[in-house]
Amino acid sequence: MDLYLGIDYGTSGARGVVIDEQGKIQTEVRYSGQKLEAPHWKSTLWSLLAEIPEPLRREIRAIAINGTSSTVLLCDGAGEPVAAPLLYNDGRGAVVLEQLKKVAPPNHTVLSATSSLAKLLWMSQQSFFSEARYFLHQADWLAFLLHGKLGISDYHNALKLGYDVEALEYPEWLEKLEIPIQLPTVLAPGTPIREIRPDIASQFGLQKDCLVCAGTTDSIAAFIASGAESPGEAVTSLGSTLVLKLLSHTRIEDARYGIYSHRFGDLWLTGGASNTGGAVLREFFNNAELASLSQEIDPATASNLDYYPLLKAGDRFPINDPNLPPRLTPRPAAPREFLHGLLESMARIEARGYELLQNLGANQVTRVYTAGGGATNSTWNAIRQRHLKVPVVASENTEAAYGTALLAKAKASNHKNAKKFT
Ligand code: ADP
Repeated sequence: MDLYLGIDYGTSGARGVVIDEQGKIQTEVRYSGQKLEAPHWKSTLWSLLAEIPEPLRREIRAIAINGTSSTVLLCDGAGEPVAAPLLYNDGRGAVVLEQLKKVAPPNHTVLSATSSLAKLLWMSQQSFFSEARYFLHQADWLAFLLHGKLGISDYHNALKLGYDVEALEYPEWLEKLEIPIQLPTVLAPGTPIREIRPDIASQFGLQKDCLVCAGTTDSIAAFIASGAESPGEAVTSLGSTLVLKLLSHTRIEDARYGIYSHRFGDLWLTGGASNTGGAVLREFFNNAELASLSQEIDPATASNLDYYPLLKAGDRFPINDPNLPPRLTPRPAAPREFLHGLLESMARIEARGYELLQNLGANQVTRVYTAGGGATNSTWNAIRQRHLKVPVVASENTEAAYGTALLAKAKASNHKNAKKFT
């Protein structure tokens, strides 16, 4: 049996999923500690491997790892971190933004305090930088622990480092920053890098020729897990916020709305994120109330309440207005009617989001997969389908680790689907 292992280092822990050639899950393992701090990344990786039953470990043909986007670190020539990694939401790069604006093209995706490039530039001005040889993303470094080759990344992780994912090279303007560090060589996500280190293979009973592949980011891994794979297919994540992703033949970039595209094989994965979403629902209802009240709502009848549910003023997508006020009135006395208005309004915002992507040139939406805490709400799904006018279905799987296992399988299994996901 040929098996494939996907490992996810997300914002809330680490998981591993082993799948077979048919994509069926053979086992799932997870790190169950409180918080996954950087000093524990390495030991967690070994624990995850050790938790996979030995007979399955022997059959693993390829491994890929996803990390959180823009979680980055510097390491020395031996791969040892020279300072604590900067996590995805670390905003210390804010102080270098002015400097970055002088070289990066206007509105470029690197022009954010939390981008990988802003973090690298900030780190280059710290005293520990003199010890550093390589700049890596979290997923790159974890994969290095398995294959032993430093300085390799993938073009999903490297997007916010400024890598030109269309031309497949670092842009000239990046050189103007003159940061004396080895930037990673960038491969297509899932590309086999090399065989696993022999000492690791024998320690864990893995095959000597088990391949370690280039990784991806946690949100793209979750997209791959959904089952969406054709142009026009989209995934809406109904978590704390509302996140839209749409596969398209065309690349869409519009910084005004925070819209950018990842390369996805021959396609582009475009999308945007709104501040509306489950966090607003949680302000008014607990999960049990959401479930029971939703059942009392008739999704075929439209609520005439027109809200823009936000926790605080401001949204970027699909309305770009930093001062956009939350609109949550009039509030009916019946909680069911209020919830109906909220779900209806968020469905309207979602539809407007896809319309905006289409107006900017993305493919017509044909089907919307759904992930996140709100995905189980069938009433909401029916309301959304009424607005979106296309089938709304549950994601086949929502685990990033599963998507990353599919990525390893697509590229490593006889290279037969080599172009499928990236
Ligand atoms: P996060 O983005 O924080 O990972 P999750 O994907 O775990 O979020 O989703 C949590 C959100 O899902 C909460 O904000 C909650 O309000 C919402 N939620 C939970 N159950 C339901 C439900 N039945 N209907 C709609 N929303 C729900």
